[in-house]
Amino acid sequence: MSDPFRDQLRTAVRALCADFGNDYWQAADDERAYPHEFVDALTEAGYLACLIPEEYGGMGLGVREACVILEEINRSGANSGACHAQMYTMGTLLRHGSDEQKQRFLPGIAAGELRLQAFAVTEPDAGSDTTRIRTFAERRGDTYVVRGQKVFISRVRQSDLMVLLARTTPLPEVEKRTGGLSVFIVDLRDAGDRVRVGAIDTMINHESCEVFFDGLEVPAANRIGEEGRGFRHIMSGMNAERILLASESIGDGLYFVDRASDYASARKVFDRPIGENQGVQFPIADAYMDVRAAAAVRDEAAREYDAGETRGHGPNMAKYLASRAAWKAANAAMDTFGGWGMASEYGIERKFREARLYMVAPVANNLVLSHVATHVLGMPRSF
Ligand SMILES: Cc1cc2nc3c(=O)[nH]c(=O)nc-3n(C[C@H](O)[C@H](O)[C@H](O)COP(=O)(O)OP(=O)(O)OC[C@H]3O[C@@H](n4cnc5c(N)ncnc54)[C@H](O)[C@@H]3O)c2cc1C
Repeated sequence: MSDPFRDQLRTAVRALCADFGNDYWQAADDERAYPHEFVDALTEAGYLACLIPEEYGGMGLGVREACVILEEINRSGANSGACHAQMYTMGTLLRHGSDEQKQRFLPGIAAGELRLQAFAVTEPDAGSDTTRIRTFAERRGDTYVVRGQKVFISRVRQSDLMVLLARTTPLPEVEKRTGGLSVFIVDLRDAGDRVRVGAIDTMINHESCEVFFDGLEVPAANRIGEEGRGFRHIMSGMNAERILLASESIGDGLYFVDRASDYASARKVFDRPIGENQGVQFPIADAYMDVRAAAAVRDEAAREYDAGETRGHGPNMAKYLASRAAWKAANAAMDTFGGWGMASEYGIERKFREARLYMVAPVANNLVLSHVATHVLGMPRSF
């Protein structure tokens, strides 16, 4: 993915991240704190608005450039999860919103004055089967009244706006399971006690929450796209998300490889660097090649996405391969560091926990295997 512009971008992001080292991220992790300073720095540099067209005040770049930004952030040891969704959640609005909606929201998002970095899809009972969600938006005149519950909704407490997927036609009344779902922009600033949010403690510092909707009124003017076609509208955004989060895994993988090869070259046991032992070298080299291979698939998916591809084949494969490559690299680094891998000061155990997320989110890897088996290879569906 090398070209002069992207190379410059990579250098600039690397320089910004250099101001936020392991001590900064470790302290945020220990305190379960939101990394405001880092997010502010990225916002001021314009990186979180990189996918917003210039006419709305963004940088007007493509997914390929966004991949460079997120990969470089994670390669530095930082965690893009604090803010990555500010980049791509607006994609549903950009692709399916009306001109009025784009004018209303995008300039504020591009300027960083409006935070749209929460999207609410997952529910406790439906899990990976999104068509089974039960949060319901009932149309009453010019408003929809929303009731239901979502889980694992990240950054909702650091967002002004949230993209919400809800049923607008009950499941038994639709012809196709994917029908009867709609997408809304929820203004959390007006929500009052109609939206209740509670933290879910997880093994990483990711600000993930459960959210209850108790008669929340959403203006019909905030529905994005057609009523009943929300599943399709949201899926196109999910493809971008998969490519971008694959880039974070690639960044994580390179972080582990960088750290492990440096440590293996410096650490002496039995009077020689541990990296002279092939038992230490080979897992690192093996993981590095997996990361590079995943990056090639990610590059292809990003190129195709920017050229207008709407299918999920490339994004899913990139996400799957990158998450596994990062996890292999995480384990190679953990082994290389011996007991120090588990000591938080070395920055391996925090990253180890963070890298594991992408095997399950934003889509569980089994679901990717199922997509490839049935949609790419044409085998019969199992569900
Ligand atoms: C830290 C974190 C942040 C998140 N942020 C968000 C967010 O901001 N917004 C949002 O909407 N969601 C978010 N999620 C939710 C995430 O997308 C889901 O956790 C994920 O899609 C899996 O759903 P589930 O947890 O209900 O697992 P389940 O669907 O219950 O699956 C459990 C296991 O069973 C497997 N499985 C299920 N069905 C099948 C099948 N048919 N064949 C084979 N295997 C199967 C899965 O692969 C998985 O391993 C987040 C999750 C986490 C952990």
